[in-house]
Amino acid sequence: MILHVDMDAFFAAVEQRDRPDLAGKPVIVGADPKGRGVVSTCSYEARRFGVRSAMPIREAFRRCPQGVFLPVRMEQYAADSRRIMEILGRFTPLVEPLSIDEAFLDVSGCERLFGPPEQMAQRIKQTILEETRLPCSVGVAPNKFLAKLATELGKPDGLTVITPERVQEVLSPLPVERVFGVGRRTAAVLESLGIRTVGELGRAPRAALVARLGPAAVSHMQDLAAGRDDRRVEPHRSPKQLGSERTFEHDVSDVGEMRRSLLALSGDVGAGLRRQGFTTIAVRLKVRTEDFATFTRAMRLPRETASDRTLYRAACHLLDASMPELPVRLLGVAACELRTGGEPVQGTLFGPPPEEVRAARVDAAVDSVRRRFGTQALRPAALVSKPKPPKAP
Ligand SMILES: [Mg+2]
Repeated sequence: MILHVDMDAFFAAVEQRDRPDLAGKPVIVGADPKGRGVVSTCSYEARRFGVRSAMPIREAFRRCPQGVFLPVRMEQYAADSRRIMEILGRFTPLVEPLSIDEAFLDVSGCERLFGPPEQMAQRIKQTILEETRLPCSVGVAPNKFLAKLATELGKPDGLTVITPERVQEVLSPLPVERVFGVGRRTAAVLESLGIRTVGELGRAPRAALVARLGPAAVSHMQDLAAGRDDRRVEPHRSPKQLGSERTFEHDVSDVGEMRRSLLALSGDVGAGLRRQGFTTIAVRLKVRTEDFATFTRAMRLPRETASDRTLYRAACHLLDASMPELPVRLLGVAACELRTGGEPVQGTLFGPPPEEVRAARVDAAVDSVRRRFGTQALRPAALVSKPKPPKAP
């Protein structure tokens, strides 16, 4: 059996715990409500006003002006996350963190120690609540897809079990969007074929679906619709990506300003990679234009890197290759396909080119200055006050 554990409104719950005066109030964590950021998390009280994660923060303010708007305190959330993951690790070594506040646990064979899965789920909820004073929801099911679904169905403060016998009964009436990988577009295609529920998706003739959606997608969807999912719980998996993004104060059409932003974002990502001992073999650029259309472009690098400069050059390359026609509202840079334990870059005979070695030395020197004097102590000249645009790499 698989357990899925997900903290309820995590960032907002941390804020409400640390400031008891916020209990029961609509708390919205993200950004300045008059600025251009988005909602990161909001409390269930705020959700009643129609506020949602990823909504522009101004829209959240419009819907819920009486809300308490707070900045993101990522270090505190990360500290709580570590405690939560440590608690989960007491129950089984097979813990796969999915994000800062979510994990899968494979609890097969743990009955002798902790009793049946439902009882174990109850103990996990209770332990997390006692030790962190934060609420969570737990789903128990025969596989990952169903366990996560069970959690969602029970939120908040839920404990939902989907036994093998109840799989079809639970799945059939749900809308197709509940199936992992079915987004708005796919749902629209399915609807045009008269398919609205997971049950209908499971029973639909395969050929008709394949013609519209391709064989791979259809196999995946129909497997899930039947409650089949054989993905294993993979402990110790490193995070898949590390990114940084920024919403501009005003929509930007100046390429120099976009590049400056990419320089800062690449620096954030590079520093994050080096701090956590990762390298990346791929870089992704995210662009959101003024009409809120969002697209991403990714490229693989010739070799693993954690260098600000290499990330920046890749990001610029991606921007040049996909120059948006409309002014840009948001840019993001992410290192995807992270690697651990990569060889430190050294100037050996067959090692990386001298340029990469130099870049790594610069990064290491910058990191050590920042560790002593703070992250703002040393920055690329192009990011200090109002500079000339950095030249294209
Ligand atoms: Mg959560």
